[in-house]
This record gives sequence, structure tokens and C-alpha cells, in this order.
Amino acid sequence: MNLDPRHIATRCAHGGSSRRGPGGANQPFHQPIVQSAIFDLGTSAEAEAIFSGAQKGYAYSRFGNPSVEALAETIAGLEGGAEALVTSSGSAAVLCAVTAALEGRDGPLVTHHDIYGGSFELLRILSGIYHVPVQTVDSANPAQWLDAVARAGAVLLETPSNPLMRLIDIGGTIARARTCGAPVIVDNTVATLFNQRPFDFGADWVLHSTSKYLNGHSDMIGGCIVRRERLSAAHRAIHKNLGGTVNALDAWLVLRGLRTFALRMEAHNRNGQAVAEWLLRRPEVARVHYPGLPSHPQAELFRRQMKHGGALLSFELAGGEAAACRFPDRIKLITHAVSLGGMESLAARPAMSSHRSMTPAARLQAGVSDSLIRLSVGVEALEDLLADLEQALAG
Ligand code: PLP
Repeated sequence: MNLDPRHIATRCAHGGSSRRGPGGANQPFHQPIVQSAIFDLGTSAEAEAIFSGAQKGYAYSRFGNPSVEALAETIAGLEGGAEALVTSSGSAAVLCAVTAALEGRDGPLVTHHDIYGGSFELLRILSGIYHVPVQTVDSANPAQWLDAVARAGAVLLETPSNPLMRLIDIGGTIARARTCGAPVIVDNTVATLFNQRPFDFGADWVLHSTSKYLNGHSDMIGGCIVRRERLSAAHRAIHKNLGGTVNALDAWLVLRGLRTFALRMEAHNRNGQAVAEWLLRRPEVARVHYPGLPSHPQAELFRRQMKHGGALLSFELAGGEAAACRFPDRIKLITHAVSLGGMESLAARPAMSSHRSMTPAARLQAGVSDSLIRLSVGVEALEDLLADLEQALAG
């Protein structure tokens, strides 16, 4: 019997549960929700031991909370990193990772035009108001991308990118970043740790919006950052003092969601691939962006880097902007909503939602056209999904 299961499905099924062992009788099998801001510090000597770090303990839930730590340990184990920090949103995770990775570094944060619109906006605020050096590069031009990476303070990459599903070569980027010592952060939200393993390619940090597939139920907002090596005191201090810690209930919701993560991802992957192939055959659809299609321009990189294509895709309607505006009004089963990674299918027009804060010029540069629809494919029965898409496209 394998006493340290490596398979994600097994680990998820047991995720966050206390291991049975000596003294295990009568312990709750599932992590309790420790819904308390404060903890009894005990005697002066005990308080001194907790605050000095000489003894593991809790003082205040922004500094540490048992439910939140259980989630951090579970995610670190599943992603294959040494340690993780859990945050109140994916955006807080981006802020925390970028700030920590730039600590003590000289060069700019190098990232690409087509990262998630909210991350783009956050970096614009960091550079415009707080003068954090940020260089945004067109990753579709690999020479330009690798050139910038070779002079970076730190690198933030998102692959597949959202919503155009372009891939960035994680291994190639990391090899180039090593020449200048720049840490590489991979936003693994869209691919998920089920489909892509950035630490296998040497990534330094992996981050997620846990609001998406890891929780999987579209009922909370959260994020996490996972470190390949152990976290330094400075990293922990950044996390604690930026204030973006998650509350115990939301942490518990992600722990609960993770128990079905592998099952959900198998269904998401199946439906995502089938819907992408179906859309490709439709005359109303001009282009489909999905990494699992053999026609994807980076099909070879996909095979090297990802295990499955996932369940996020986008497509351009042959009828242009007018058809894209009609589409959300016609879908019946699929919900017109932002976000992704829940069990229900969602569709939205990135130009008027996630990428709205970009100037039209920046959107154009990112390749987000007005006729683009993003679809987060859920785990419904495939025939129901295709029936809804068929009647919506017919309009
Ligand atoms: N990273 C990616 C790739 C995302 O798609 C999102 C949100 O859509 C975020 C980060 C931010 O996550 P959150 O909405 O949890 O702040």
C-alpha cells in the first residue's frame, strides 16, 4: 500500500484531512473552521515563545490561522512546492508574489501584454503610482520576450493566457531568467496544477486565483502563492503586512472544493476539448483559441508543457462585434458571467468585461477583438451544452 500517495486524485480525496496516527482517535477527520480573529496567548513566557517564533502558535488570524494553514499546506503539496501562502484573492496573490519576487532585485518585473486584465491593471497602478519598474513585452515575439527576460528583476508569466490561450514556453523562459538570476512566477490559474506543473520546469513561484478551479464552486474569492523553496521571513512579512489574508471560512471552502478537484478537472478537460472541436466546425465561428486543438499554432509546445487543454477557450464570431453582442442575449443554459473554473458554463465578452479597463489600443495589442467570446466550459452534459451553443449561434 502506498502510504504517501503521489496521485493527485488520491491526495485530493484526502486533502486537508488530518492524518490518522498515534493519538488520532476522536480527532475530526475534516479540518474545522477556526473562525476566530484572536487566540489566547497564555502566559508571558508562552506569548514570548509565539511572537519570537521559538514555538509554533497563533496570536491573530492575519498572522496565522489553523484553517488557513491547512489550506496552504494542502495546496503546496498538490502543486509540488515547499510552502504556500493563501491570500484573499488571486489579485492579492499577484501583488504578494510580485512584491516578494522583486525584493532585493534591480531590474524590472517583466510580463506580457495578454496577462489577465486585472493583473495588467494592477501592474499599471504599481508602475504608474508607486514607480515599481514594470516592462510589458509581446510574448508572441519570442526573441523580444527572451531578451527582456534576460535583463529582468523578476518575471510574471501566465500560460495559457486568458482569454487568447497563447502559450509561453515555461522551460525556455526559466532557462533564460537563470542567466540573470530573475525569479519566475507562473500564474497557473487557467491551466491548473492538474494540467500543468510549472515546478517541473524550475519555476520559482506558482500562483492561483483559488476563486477558479481549485475551489470550483464559484462561491468565494481567494488566491495562493506557492514557493518552490521555503519561504523567507521577508516573504512572510510581505504577506502579513499587505493585509490580503483569507478568512477561515473561505479557506475551508477551498479545502472542501479541492476534495473533488481531480474529478472535476477530468470532466472539465473532456468537455473543453469536445466543445472546442465542435466550435471549430461551425460556420458562424471564425476562429477558436484552445491549446488542445491540433490546429493551435503552438501545438508542439502544448504537448511538451501541458497534459490536457483545460476548459477555458475563446472564439471569434464570423458576424463580428454585432454577433458577439447578440450571443450573451441568446444563451439559455450557459450563463452570461465573468470568471471561470466553476462547474457551470459561463460566457462573456472580454472587451466589455475583463479587459474593459485597457485602452482600445492596448486591447488590440493584446489581440482581444470586439468579436471575441470567452467560454468557461463547465461539467454539464456535453449534449446540453452543444444544444445551447447551437441555438445561440443560430441567432
Ligand atoms: N489570474 C488569472 C489568470 C485570472 O483569470 C484571475 C481572475 O480572473 C486572477 C488572476 C485574479 O483572481 P481573483 O479574481 O481571485 O482576484
